[in-house]
Amino acid sequence: MIINDIKIISEGYCFAKTYKLPDFINYKISCSDPNLEITRFNQAVLKANQDLEKETSSYFVIQKMILNDNLLKTTVTDLIINKKISAEASLIQAIKNFKSEMLKSQSTYLQERVYDLEDMCQRLLHILVDTKIKLPTTDFILVVDELLPSILLQHLNNIKGIITKKAGYLSHGAILARTLEIPFITTNMTIPNDTNVIIDTRLKHLIINPSNKEINELKVTNNENVILRPHEGFQLLANVFGNEEIEKVKKYGFDGIGLYRTEFVFMHNNRPLTYEEQLNIYTDAVTKLGPLSFCFRTFDIGDDKQIPYIKTHKKGFLNYVNNKEMFEEQIKAFINSNLYGKMKIMFPMIETKEEFNYLKSWVLRIKKELNNDVPLKIGMMLETKSALENIYDFNEADFFSIGTNDLTMQLYHLNREKAKKIPAKYILDLKNKLIDVINYCNKTNKELSMCGELAAIPEATKSFLQIGLKNFSVSPSAYKDLNESVCKYLESIK
Ligand code: PEP
Ligand code: MG
Repeated sequence: MIINDIKIISEGYCFAKTYKLPDFINYKISCSDPNLEITRFNQAVLKANQDLEKETSSYFVIQKMILNDNLLKTTVTDLIINKKISAEASLIQAIKNFKSEMLKSQSTYLQERVYDLEDMCQRLLHILVDTKIKLPTTDFILVVDELLPSILLQHLNNIKGIITKKAGYLSHGAILARTLEIPFITTNMTIPNDTNVIIDTRLKHLIINPSNKEINELKVTNNENVILRPHEGFQLLANVFGNEEIEKVKKYGFDGIGLYRTEFVFMHNNRPLTYEEQLNIYTDAVTKLGPLSFCFRTFDIGDDKQIPYIKTHKKGFLNYVNNKEMFEEQIKAFINSNLYGKMKIMFPMIETKEEFNYLKSWVLRIKKELNNDVPLKIGMMLETKSALENIYDFNEADFFSIGTNDLTMQLYHLNREKAKKIPAKYILDLKNKLIDVINYCNKTNKELSMCGELAAIPEATKSFLQIGLKNFSVSPSAYKDLNESVCKYLESIK
């Protein structure tokens, strides 16, 4: 049975048997001795702290903070005393109250932190009732209502895919799954336990009890040892969210990074990053990648990407003007980490040449103030309808990167979730529209690449290769598809 009604949290494809995490154990509710319950709770917190000490991942920092927050302790203790209920029941009640407060917040960041709260609660409950979940020791697809990062981290080698009922795109579990390249989807369908399932986000579906034919079709493209070969005249680049992905970028043989989404560096923190912190992150990234091409995008916040300490609705130019200091510190950190003179900086969501020229001269002013004369290219994303239609205006841009995610939304009113299953007629229309852009870039010697999701969808890649597009930037996990598309194209024109 094929299910199309899914939401993609992390791209990829896999085939394995499902393992459905059992619903949470029955716990006792009544309490005969409040002091004993308070002691049990305190001991559980102590044990959780000891366990968390062993976790090196930064994903647990927030959980440690919640665990040691006095409010949690006093709320649970008060509930035990006043309601005469067990430590488990009090903890569940307390977390429920905290969660409903957090979900009322306007901030996506705070809403997403509910998952940390939930994860920490489950951790404490397991200690209190002393249950050990026994997960299979062979490969499986995890089926669970909500993903807890701790389960994922403890069973990395065997979890091939994840299906949940709900998940925030920015929850730590989601970010972790993307970093680890584990396909992760949500669906409202009930998925049975111990059943063969295929997850394939390229086709935006999951298949329950797939046929042998469907399994074989998946395996055909499942060649693990592909390395991107250097293709003369082409640049096959990677889109990344953070430094953790850079090792993969090198391992898979990418020619460099075509899009570093720096807003994610900010999203993981609940305060602005200092200049020094940013300098460290960017220098580390540039050093790790070596002298390969590197393109940082200035923080692209608004709409679906909110930062807790900045009020903004729409993505675009005004976010820089309204957050002047943050923009300047980021640019300063970029410029000072340009160790190899290979860096490119680009601005997202540019609508007009005035916007682009304003930001470019702002960057050049900062560069001059820093007495920095290392080569730096300054370009823009081509992802608004207005920029696409007025491409000839942007003669000041050193390069363009076509952002098909936003562009197809603006051109064809597709929503972001659906953009991956774009109808052929829109690919054809976009292909025609891009011919002008390619001609203009060839004539003016400006570099042009594509970094939206379409760059990694074989039918679309093929269309864009046919009109002479040569540079593509895709998420690291899409390297095989991209490689195959370029190889096939080169074969076809021999
Ligand atoms: C795009 O819009 O195509 C793009 C690459 O940017 P993002 O997905 O980060 O908005
Ligand atoms: Mg975009």
